[in-house]
Amino acid sequence: MSDSDVRNVIIIGSGPAGLTAAIYAARANLKPLCIEGFNAGGLIPGGQLMFTSEVENYPGFPEKVTGQELMERFRAQAVHQGCDIITGDVTRIDLSKRPFELWALDSEGVERAFKAKTVIASTGARANYVGLESENKLKNKGVSACAVCDGAFFRNQDVVVVGGGDTAMEEANYLTGMCKSVTLVHRRDEFRASITMQERVIKNPKIKIMYSHTVEEVLGVEEDHVTGVRVKSTKTGAVTDIPAAAMFVAIGHTPLADIFKGQVELLDNGYIKTIPGTTQTNVPGFFASGDVQDYVFRQAVTAAGSGCMAALEAERWLAANDAH
Ligand code: NDP
Repeated sequence: MSDSDVRNVIIIGSGPAGLTAAIYAARANLKPLCIEGFNAGGLIPGGQLMFTSEVENYPGFPEKVTGQELMERFRAQAVHQGCDIITGDVTRIDLSKRPFELWALDSEGVERAFKAKTVIASTGARANYVGLESENKLKNKGVSACAVCDGAFFRNQDVVVVGGGDTAMEEANYLTGMCKSVTLVHRRDEFRASITMQERVIKNPKIKIMYSHTVEEVLGVEEDHVTGVRVKSTKTGAVTDIPAAAMFVAIGHTPLADIFKGQVELLDNGYIKTIPGTTQTNVPGFFASGDVQDYVFRQAVTAAGSGCMAALEAERWLAANDAH
């Protein structure tokens, strides 16, 4: 089956970045198509916010809003503005010819081909987890991959942060602003993070560092919320239970950029490379917004902002290239 229309713009992904791009592109009368994924292992409709509980830091929602409701509202607004949304996992893309061509599998495994003059990649990223069953069961019940999103739910409580990179340092420091104590658990005897970030952590009296420890179990499955973290020394094998209300996993993210490999320039860490301050990639007419290109901020509001930029840049590119 194929979509014979050549679209002005196809947006891949339906998180905050993709749906904001959809709203702006639809309002610019570009008649965009947004392809939302359905596969929990890859693209999922609504993106990572579908995995969070309450969102307290999205401006405009002084009352609590759940991640799911927020994304339903984004989606409804995109549809209301005239964006076509279809469900499909984009499996291949060809950016070497114009119009660009891409292929998506629907939930029945049927492949459809699409053509577009411009494409906005908003496929997002996936947080890495340690990979324990107890960890999985307690996601959103104290296990989180985002301190800025969920830290405030654990005010004046003891929490654990796992990881040794810049994100772990940043999250540990951030959490000391609201939590009673932070135990930072790292698998090696030295951090990977930059020296400045490490120093801030080492000097912070509210942070206790446990080097050379791995997470063995997240405690609290029976209680249905995190009550502690069981860690094991890689040096002595000694097991310690750390009482805690939350475990923040900061062991990296994986950008969902596999389908773009070899088509567009990626950074060494796998994120799509964009010209700073823009959503432009090295392929004219191919833009990237949200977490697939931003490994520093990773917030819904920054993703939405870059989705807006991508739609405006796609519109300008179409106008300049007389292709609209
Ligand atoms: P990193 O890949 O830099 O660090 C991941 C950390 O998690 C490492 O310490 C690693 O351990 C540990 N880890 C990985 N897998 C496991 C596992 N299975 N179990 C236990 N520990 C594990 O990721 P970050 O998210 O910290 O940073 C990503 C990028 O973003 C970096 O380039 C970073 O510099 C940048 N960044 C910059 C910031 C800033 O400038 N303000 C803020 C945040 C991020 P090990 O060291 O043993 O490999």
